[in-house]
Amino acid sequence: MKRILTGLKPSGELTLGSLIGGIKQTVLYQDEYDSFIFVPDMHAITVSQDPKELRERIYKNVALYLASGIDPNKNTIYLQSENLYHANLSWVLECTTYMGEASRMTQYKDKASKGENVTVGLFTYPILMAADILLYDAEYVPVGIDQKQHVELARNIADRFNKRYGDTFTIPEPLIPKVGAKIMDLQDPTKKMSKSDETYKGVILLLDSEKDIRKKIMSAVTDSEGKIYYDVQNKPGISNLLTIYSSLKEVTIEEASEHFKDYNYGNFKKEVADVVVEVIMAIQKKYNDLISSNQIEEILDKGSKRTNALAEQKLKEVFHKVGLGRY
Ligand code: ATP
Ligand code: MG
Repeated sequence: MKRILTGLKPSGELTLGSLIGGIKQTVLYQDEYDSFIFVPDMHAITVSQDPKELRERIYKNVALYLASGIDPNKNTIYLQSENLYHANLSWVLECTTYMGEASRMTQYKDKASKGENVTVGLFTYPILMAADILLYDAEYVPVGIDQKQHVELARNIADRFNKRYGDTFTIPEPLIPKVGAKIMDLQDPTKKMSKSDETYKGVILLLDSEKDIRKKIMSAVTDSEGKIYYDVQNKPGISNLLTIYSSLKEVTIEEASEHFKDYNYGNFKKEVADVVVEVIMAIQKKYNDLISSNQIEEILDKGSKRTNALAEQKLKEVFHKVGLGRY
């Protein structure tokens, strides 16, 4: 079975973008692939985190994975920080990566240009991400379009290592959804809906109340034309709502546009809100049961055991090939 790997860092509350661009893809493939889904908690501390909130969010995220349809019998679910091999492999890969290529990562450039206290970790995190992927020879990595460049970096690093030391890593491929590769902020539909947003005004959280979800969608920024069709350039707000609807209803953009062509903006937004509420409320219902059970502990123990065994083997092979220690 080919292996697929997903991670959503607990840097903020999971959003509708996380669901559509990340979790839903894994659910789609969990029957066909040996599917790994983890909480990249070490990635979260690239920006400042409150320790208590971070610890709680790690649990919340596992519960949200499960509530969103990740089946613990079909997936290996684990925490990155419970596996000490990730950071060890990352070091070797850092020594296989050139400053030039790391400096070209646009996410780093975006985030660094906004933040004041930019850490070295924020700069090197794509290399830790490469380690997360290469450690398990994942063939496919489902990502939103914003993460495509990081998967490409992982491919380049893997290829370079293989050429230099002999075949070691599988070259991973990004899996990008046909619809919903980039869900935009509802207040500023030219920017990505992001969980590290400061106000969450244009961001739908998976744990938002029904009232807040409706309010955020009804006040989504659109345009004054009054016609509903897909045109990202000229109608980013309307196009974004069409994308959200299409991916949750699992219809094409064309089908969605046809369905809404005679609607006014108010009724259109209301119907999009209905669909989002239906999906998210179903997730929350399951979430509430899970968060108070001890199922999560058991699932994480099992995941940690399996991934540690696999990672230990891989890291020893890597250390040996590079000439480190007595491996
Ligand atoms: P941050 O702002 O902290 O980087 P994020 O919202 O970008 O958070 P990540 O943990 O970086 O979330 O990404 C997890 C996965 O979800 C990635 O595959 C990413 O491409 C996808 N994803 C995140 N936001 C969106 C979005 N708005 N639309 C589609 N996919 C998304
Ligand atoms: Mg991100």
